[in-house]
Amino acid sequence: MQQESDRLRGEGLRIGFVPTMGALHEGHLDLLRLCRTHCDVTVMSVFVNPTQFGANEDFGRYPRDLDRDAMLAASAGCDILFTPQAEEVYPPGYSTWVQEEILSATLEGRSRPTHFRGVTTVVTKLFLMVKPHCAVFGQKDAQQAAIIKRMVRDLHFDIELLIAPIRREADGLAMSSRNMYLSESGRIEALALSRSLRLAEQFVAGGGRDADAIRALVKDELNRSGAVTVDYVALLDAETLDEVDMLSGQATLLAIAARVDRTRLIDNTILRVETIER
Ligand code: AMP
Repeated sequence: MQQESDRLRGEGLRIGFVPTMGALHEGHLDLLRLCRTHCDVTVMSVFVNPTQFGANEDFGRYPRDLDRDAMLAASAGCDILFTPQAEEVYPPGYSTWVQEEILSATLEGRSRPTHFRGVTTVVTKLFLMVKPHCAVFGQKDAQQAAIIKRMVRDLHFDIELLIAPIRREADGLAMSSRNMYLSESGRIEALALSRSLRLAEQFVAGGGRDADAIRALVKDELNRSGAVTVDYVALLDAETLDEVDMLSGQATLLAIAARVDRTRLIDNTILRVETIER
């Protein structure tokens, strides 16, 4: 991969990169399509990264179907599908990690303490292998996007980052490879997540500003379904991930995580207040 990237760079071509764990869906393909508009050659990686899974998480049963992924990626214009093996990414006896220490401590980091260390380490490794000029991540994983942005700034990666909007099913459910784990009834119960976000958006559009009130509204909607167990409902500054008490002109991230059918789902929206209010 490094030799190929050097060759492409030698030809003056701009390399775009979309890292994924496979089990591709339209959300991943949106990233690829956005990437293509910003570069000459698109590389997508499919790598189920063991170090970002906790001991009791779903690494073993994470959906894997490389033939299908290859077909879908090619159909969306992927030029190079990069599928390294775990032993290549993590050489025997590896002992080097990349860790972001502030943004990683909250939300997902609280429930999954080693998750983001695995993410920042593998993204660094993949950046060094693929040598991209630009890379695309999804707003679906809003905290991850904020952490990667911070890491790129802090470590002076010479890479332009693009964040693609959340791709949803027609009924509102945010697309995720993990949606496959849901039962038929769980799939319906899971709609409470996107529904609760829409309620919050309406509340803000109607003049609501108080974070406690928004959190209560969202939790109520999630708890209306007995099948949904809330993990967190958080209102944070979208960039610093600091907690917000009252919405202001800054973009506020409303992020939620909940379990449905023992499957952990996340979703989010950015709440914006018109800066000129009368
Ligand atoms: P994953 O394979 O789940 O690790 O995701 C790979 C990339 O796709 C990450 O940058 C995700 O944020 C992004 N992604 C996953 N689901 C969606 C979605 N529904 N909409 C937009 N981006 C997504």
